[in-house]
Amino acid sequence: MALYSEHSITIYNSLSSKKELFKPINEGAIGMYVCGPTVYSNVHLGNLRTFMSFDIIFRYFKHLGYKIRYVRNITDAGHLENDADEGEDRIAKKARLEQIEPMEVVQKYTVDFHNILNTFNFLPPSIEPTATGHIIDQIEIIKGILEKGLAYEVNGSVYFDILKYNESNDYGVLSGRNIEDLIHNTRTLEGQTDKKNPQDFALWKKAEPNHIMRWPSPWGLGFPGWHLECTAMSTKYLGEKFDIHGGGMDLKFPHHECEIAQAKAWHNCSPVNYWMHANMLTLNGQKMAKSTGNNILPDEILSGNTKQLSKGFSPSVTRFFMMQAHYRSILDFSNDALVASEKGFLKLMDALKTLKNLEASTTPSDFNVSKWKQGCYAAMNDDFNTPILIAELFNAVKYINQIKDGTNSIDSESLITIRKTMQAFVFDVLGLQELSAVGSHDEKLSETIALLISLRNQARTQKNFALSDQIRDQLEKIGIHLKDGKDGTIFSLD
Ligand SMILES: [Zn+2]
Repeated sequence: MALYSEHSITIYNSLSSKKELFKPINEGAIGMYVCGPTVYSNVHLGNLRTFMSFDIIFRYFKHLGYKIRYVRNITDAGHLENDADEGEDRIAKKARLEQIEPMEVVQKYTVDFHNILNTFNFLPPSIEPTATGHIIDQIEIIKGILEKGLAYEVNGSVYFDILKYNESNDYGVLSGRNIEDLIHNTRTLEGQTDKKNPQDFALWKKAEPNHIMRWPSPWGLGFPGWHLECTAMSTKYLGEKFDIHGGGMDLKFPHHECEIAQAKAWHNCSPVNYWMHANMLTLNGQKMAKSTGNNILPDEILSGNTKQLSKGFSPSVTRFFMMQAHYRSILDFSNDALVASEKGFLKLMDALKTLKNLEASTTPSDFNVSKWKQGCYAAMNDDFNTPILIAELFNAVKYINQIKDGTNSIDSESLITIRKTMQAFVFDVLGLQELSAVGSHDEKLSETIALLISLRNQARTQKNFALSDQIRDQLEKIGIHLKDGKDGTIFSLD
């Protein structure tokens, strides 16, 4: 019997704003769609967190024995600079600035995205479709919506008619926005006169002469609206109605609201049973923003080459840190929090090493392993509560250390259970990785460089600048870069 039949999961559904018992459409099988990245820049930390939340959910469903099809798309066309269908296509703009082909931009940042996700030990989705690979599907949907009379064509563009749709549907069902307020609050921008109503959104946009990403359509040369690709790809690979749709909180409106409207307009059925949204991430208590410098990229966490961090942290420490907050809570990123997580992570890894060598005995124990195991599952069954799971893992860490110290004991059956359960949750579900031998080399290298930095500081204090420069230059030659800041010297490696 599959493990899933022993567990009932509750999921916080953004559609009802409450936790609901999870029941997949087909027993034992799950369809899950998550909005992927727009590949026009390096993946940022907020994205990483969103995708990590769904990676853990994917991993847990797999662990329970579900057959899960996880679709996460790549947006490589149609995502304009602002939500009101205005501005340049993000990819085309980057291509113009870097003087390369749009598809070179797509290739570059798709590779970056995959590299970062591999580094952080993500499982690949079952299907990773692209918007440009599904233009024909998107055109077919537009034709369908036009036939229903819920969209209109103006001057080579096609717009979704929100007021018409709202006559027999509820636009705002997901985000809780009220159509009257939307009408009231939407500004009409200069040059937006094509739309009947400013809150209507584009299904197809006519390509202006300078717009390089363009495809033929029944309405002339153009490109699809951003919201449409997800409706096309989710329907194609998961069906008209599927189990879970996820994404970052910022996508709830308008992106996901529009997805619901498109699907209902097209085939008269609400496309998704459970909408899940991962919360945002702050850095030192403030919103992350490139413009203010309150920003950090995933690879800067690894190298420590940023003023925000005192040193680099391993992918597993970062993962462990992120899992200490529930996916629906805001996560605050800071150097101190990462340092604390690293300590916790090392303690967990030490306990796992100890666990390998523990021996069973017949002395009675006051720790109930099977109850503890139930607690681990209960945490994840309750809307994937990873902080509670981690607290349970640390109850086991305490017990393991007591057995090692001889102040507690474990029988042989419990020893097998605790080993299997720790293995499953730490490595399979949370996706953490053991520190390898390479890790300890890294540690020694860091200590050696720290020693050289302190010798260089001594030389500088003694005004022996020839020596301090020599240390810096020689390190630079072998690819170790020192950077002096107000909080001291940090280093990065090639
Ligand atoms: Zn999407």
